[in-house]
Amino acid sequence: MEVYHVTKSDTCRFDGLGDRPVDALGGKTPLEAAATPNLDKIATMAECGMAHTLGRGLRPGSDTSHLAIFGYDPEKYYCGRGPIEVSGLGMELKDGDVALRGNMGTVDDDLLIKDRRAGRIRDVSPFTKLIDGMEVDGVTFIVHPGTAHRAGVIMRGTGLSSKITEADPHEPGRPVETVLPKDDTPEAKKTADVLNKFLREAYKVLKDADANKERVQNGELPANFLLVRGAGQYSALPKFIDKWGFDACCIAGGGLYKGIGTFLGMEIIDVPGANALPDSDIEAKFKAATAQLGRHDFVFVHVKATDSLGEDGDYTGKKEFIEKADKAIAHLVDLPDDALLIVTADHTTPCELMAHSGDPVPIMLRGKGVRTDNVTAFGERSCARGGLGFIRGVDIMPQVLNLMGRLHLIGA
Ligand code: ZN
Repeated sequence: MEVYHVTKSDTCRFDGLGDRPVDALGGKTPLEAAATPNLDKIATMAECGMAHTLGRGLRPGSDTSHLAIFGYDPEKYYCGRGPIEVSGLGMELKDGDVALRGNMGTVDDDLLIKDRRAGRIRDVSPFTKLIDGMEVDGVTFIVHPGTAHRAGVIMRGTGLSSKITEADPHEPGRPVETVLPKDDTPEAKKTADVLNKFLREAYKVLKDADANKERVQNGELPANFLLVRGAGQYSALPKFIDKWGFDACCIAGGGLYKGIGTFLGMEIIDVPGANALPDSDIEAKFKAATAQLGRHDFVFVHVKATDSLGEDGDYTGKKEFIEKADKAIAHLVDLPDDALLIVTADHTTPCELMAHSGDPVPIMLRGKGVRTDNVTAFGERSCARGGLGFIRGVDIMPQVLNLMGRLHLIGA
């Protein structure tokens, strides 16, 4: 679920909120089956509709659909998962950098994977700092710790490419993959070669590190190999404030969503207890969103667990989580006159499929000037009858500009 406030604008996005009818819920979707008095009250005061976030017939990822909803056409601006993830770690990207995300894993002397997460290590900073700044053939490797076993890597140098395979074989017992070029360009070959060299050099440093000797002595698995994936090449893009004129902030628990916020130049507001899990303190998030309304023009709130529960096929859990979110969103029912509230989702995650689908998601806009319609419930089928009709993700920001009186006149 996603919520936005615009100047004040508040956008709330419920990740993977949309669903399909579930027999065990009497043929309703989890959103339709959930008791949502607050969302329904907002719907009554709103203009409702449906959004194909990437366009009809396209099955959105969370990264691409968020870019589209923020008005960045993914065809033009999406450069892979790596750059977004490393942005979320506070790593600064320069034009031409190749960014990757990865795990600190455990390999044996034959480079066979023993554990992809080094025994679910909680903090990899003692290890990333040993290899951060290493240089191989004129390429600098910037390596920062992520949460738990995760890390971010930036390759900085000339003539690089993101057209490379990954090092992570994704299964214990298999050897570390040699990174290969995906096309015939010298850039892809160079990037793969330099990355392979770095990963093996880094392994030599890590396997003999004191911090790993200590882990082994304590009966823990050593963190001795960086399993990288998701290469993407960064090219500078306009910040949200430059593109739309709104000074924005991002309230999210999940790393990917903080990454998208950072990537677009939003201020990240950390809320204690917001952990992107079903027990996340979403009430604290919405309270924080209200507090940010006076400080920012645009507040983006992301709620994650609707998606994870859909991916687990847990329709009861999804319904109950939506009810919890509805209670929390009570803080946004009465907003100031100059606030615009948008509630939507980035994609549908049907419990039946346990994966993202191309079905459109409900969206509602509530604020001064909106043409309220006859929709009185926030749901997939009720919003399909709303005044907004069926729109694309990239149509949402122009809609916001219109309601905020910021559209240029075309003609005279
Ligand atoms: Zn998502």
